[in-house]
Amino acid sequence: MEIIVETDTPPIPELEVITDAPAPVVAKEGFTWEVLLPYLLIALTPFLYVINKATSLYIWIVLKWLTDPKIDLKAKCPACGHRQDHKLEYNPQYECIIHTCSRCFAEWGQAPVVSASRWKVVSVPDQKDETEL
Ligand SMILES: [Zn+2]
Repeated sequence: MEIIVETDTPPIPELEVITDAPAPVVAKEGFTWEVLLPYLLIALTPFLYVINKATSLYIWIVLKWLTDPKIDLKAKCPACGHRQDHKLEYNPQYECIIHTCSRCFAEWGQAPVVSASRWKVVSVPDQKDETEL
């Protein structure tokens, strides 16, 4: 008994021999990226170093400026929410800065950036009164 298997695969074509092969690719001589890249890196290294240091310095300055503690001259009033320039005064009794709201005259305290024991300022209210005149 004979078994016949039918398939849809096409017959395998015969290989052709190519006699006119293209010419091999020859690398260009002279100014190519393989030649220029090391010299370019050597020439640009100082500039890249300076740019890197400048970028680091800029980021450090921005972070220092953002995280630097400071007294906000336009602090939000806790009573009325008004946010505008207002009166600041150091109170030696409480050793804190007293904000006075310009709208509702509410007062609230804030610790100074540098503690009062480290900067010894003598209060001179009499001299202040003379300058206002
Ligand atoms: Zn207020």
